[in-house]
Amino acid sequence: MEKTGVLYAGKAKTVHTTADENLMVLEFRNDTTAFDGEKMEALQNKGRVNNLFNAFVMKKLQAAGIETHLVDVLSDHESLVRNLKMLPVECVVRNRAAGSIVRRLGVEEGAEMNPPIFEFFLKNDALHDPMINEYHIETFGWATKDDIAQMKELTFKVNEVLKSLFAAGDLILVDYKLEFGLFEGRVLLGDEFSPDGCRLWDANTMEKMDKDRFRQGLGSVVESYMEVGRRIGVEF
Ligand code: 5GP
Repeated sequence: MEKTGVLYAGKAKTVHTTADENLMVLEFRNDTTAFDGEKMEALQNKGRVNNLFNAFVMKKLQAAGIETHLVDVLSDHESLVRNLKMLPVECVVRNRAAGSIVRRLGVEEGAEMNPPIFEFFLKNDALHDPMINEYHIETFGWATKDDIAQMKELTFKVNEVLKSLFAAGDLILVDYKLEFGLFEGRVLLGDEFSPDGCRLWDANTMEKMDKDRFRQGLGSVVESYMEVGRRIGVEF
């Protein structure tokens, strides 16, 4: 599928239009950012690794009955996706405490969250993605009550599928962020699922294997992403 123009260039991906208005090409770049773009680096091979990782996970989710935007992998760093009307919120589920919840609530890193915690954030870099709740989303018109219910249901369904997928590779799915969009009236999973947007710890050593390696300057970022991928069956 030919690219016809750039619709949007984000911090790590570029969205290209195609001749079919229902389809877009998602290009995974090597660019890696943290702290709202304050820390920025191009990591060799990351675009390819995340593209293949994302496609593998999206296909697993589709097989479990969760509709996603993925149509096909086009090349090492590009995938064909459905053109969703994105809902401007981030859905986060936490199985263990890490990151912002530790800073916000003073809970101990690694503490098990039982039941898992669900949080909404507004997708807005200028405001540093503030935490919001269902009232904000409905009142400000970012999504309807029904969209909200579906996003929550789907995000928890993803948890059930992915917790066991990663556990089989001796990995703990600590937390993750999902983004959804509308396509022909349905709520579909969009954006990406890769170690850029989740936390994964080695179940035996508790070593961080995700983007926290970049955020915290731990090194071997892409190597860790590939190790995680190999453990769950991604072929790089
Ligand atoms: P936290 O709220 O602890 O910063 O993030 C919770 C989870 O969502 C982490 O796995 C983190 O990587 C992911 N996450 C939150 N916001 C973003 C974002 O803007 N971009 C990406 N790639 N991941 C995010």
